[in-house]
Amino acid sequence: MSTIPESVAKVRARIREAAQASGRDPQDVQLLAVSKTKPANDLREAFACGQRDFGENYLQEALAKQAELADLALTWHFIGPIQSNKTRAIAEHFAWVHAVDRLKIAQRLSEQRPTDLPPLNLCLQVNVSGEASKSGCAPAELAELARAVAELPNLRLRGLMAIPEPTDDPTAQRAAFARLRELKDGLGLDLDTLSMGMSHDLEAAIAEGATWVRIGTALFGARDYGQPSR
Ligand SMILES: *Cc1c(COP(=O)(O)O)cnc(C)c1O
Repeated sequence: MSTIPESVAKVRARIREAAQASGRDPQDVQLLAVSKTKPANDLREAFACGQRDFGENYLQEALAKQAELADLALTWHFIGPIQSNKTRAIAEHFAWVHAVDRLKIAQRLSEQRPTDLPPLNLCLQVNVSGEASKSGCAPAELAELARAVAELPNLRLRGLMAIPEPTDDPTAQRAAFARLRELKDGLGLDLDTLSMGMSHDLEAAIAEGATWVRIGTALFGARDYGQPSR
């Protein structure tokens, strides 16, 4: 098994090569280290390699790690599904949320975002895999949702996020990510973010314009529990 510093170096090299292969500047692709189920010390090791952005899925676990790592200047992203009763703590303790798919949740985050903090950066999760996926708004409902969210104070709508159905076929991977890019471009809003690509498909995501890749397993090793959908 690789050490965390080795894994960080490998993932950075994959990102750089994928960006170069599609004529993109590697700087335009940011690495979000997905640390769900991993101990605070793993994040500390990644931090020592220069990693600053971390993504968590489970609120209580994330808050515990934030307390343990309060001595580090980290940027926290909430990437899991959001229930209404969790919005206040998320609005108070994170810089980004990646998986909003309902207006009601966005409204609560906006109302509950402390005004002494910068606006909460937000991505709308879109279901680009149809029946195969339960989370994410339907592509047909995206335009209306995005327009409404873009009006809310205390939030900054940055772009779209997707978790396509897993497949090993690079063509199918790219098709799903291309769909998300086209949906973003079709909105006619000023959006700069595509949060797409995980350990197994980051190359395809970068080829289709990912600006955040969300990487867990390739950095920290396999997880014992805690898959994206519960
Ligand atoms: C767990 C998770 C990831 C990371 O997945 P890996 O396959 O381990 O890289 C990315 N995005 C979301 C939303 C997740 O829940």
